[in-house]
Amino acid sequence: MPRFLVDASAVQGERALLTGEVAHRISRVLRMSPGATADLLDGAGNVYSIVISSIDRDRVSCRVTSTTKDVGEPSVRITLCQGIMKSDKFDWVLQKGTEVGISEFVPMVSKRSVPKRSDAESPGKRARWAKIIAEAMEQSGRSRLPVLHPATTFDDACALATPNSLALIPWEEARGRGLKQVLTTPIPHRVLLYIGPEGGFDSSEVQHAQSLGIHPVSLGSRILRAETAGLVAASAILYHTSDLGG
Ligand code: SAH
Repeated sequence: MPRFLVDASAVQGERALLTGEVAHRISRVLRMSPGATADLLDGAGNVYSIVISSIDRDRVSCRVTSTTKDVGEPSVRITLCQGIMKSDKFDWVLQKGTEVGISEFVPMVSKRSVPKRSDAESPGKRARWAKIIAEAMEQSGRSRLPVLHPATTFDDACALATPNSLALIPWEEARGRGLKQVLTTPIPHRVLLYIGPEGGFDSSEVQHAQSLGIHPVSLGSRILRAETAGLVAASAILYHTSDLGG
C-alpha cells in the first residue's frame, strides 16, 4: 500500500485534495489511477485510508474510507542525541533510526566532533535530513514524523534529560553497568540516548552527564562505530518494551 506524508490541511472530513509533490508522485511517478488506494499520513499520528476519485494534472482528489491513529509507533519515545559525524553517516543514522523506531533526533556537537556545528545547521543539510526522515517514515509504516531538533552542544543536549525520563550515555569505558541493568520494567515513557562521535566522548563529558543523572552504560565488549551504537541501543530498548513484535 503506498503511503504519503501530507500536510494535515489536505484532509477535510471525508475528502482529501492533494497537490504539489505528493500529487506529482501519484500521477506522474507512480502513475496511479482513479480507484487506486493509498494511506495518507499527517505526521501527527493520523492515518487516512483513501481511494483516489480523480486525477486532474497535478491535483488528486480522494475519498477517505477510514481513519486510524498511531499505527507503527513504539510505546516508548526514544530521543537519540547523536554526535555529528563526517560525510553521510548521519544520513544513515536518520534513515535507519526512523525505521527502527526512534522518535526524536538531536544532532549534537561534542568535544571530539570533527564537523562543525555550522555544518549541521546549513539549510541545505537540514532540508536533506528532513527529507530522509520523511521518506523513511513513509516507507516503514510509521504514523508520527520523528522530530529533527536543531544542532546543539553536548551541554544543551544534556539539559533535555528530565527527571521523568531515563537518560543513558553509552560509553565504551563504562564498566560494570550494562544496558540490561538499567532497563527496569516498566521503563519511563521517554528515553534519551547520548552517543558520541567517531572519536567518542571525553571522560569529562561523561562525568558532566553523570552529574545530571544520565547513566553511563556499556553496550558490551566490542567497540561499535558511532553510527551503529545508537541503533543497537535503541533496538535493545525496543526489544525490552516488546516493541519489536512482542
Ligand atoms: N573512540 C572510541 C570509540 C567511539 S565509538 C574508540 O575508538 O575507542 C562512538 C560512540 O559509540 C561512543 O562515544 C559511545 O557512545 C558508543 N559506543 C560504541 N561502542 C560502545 C560500547 N561497547 N559500549 C558503550 N558505548 C559504545
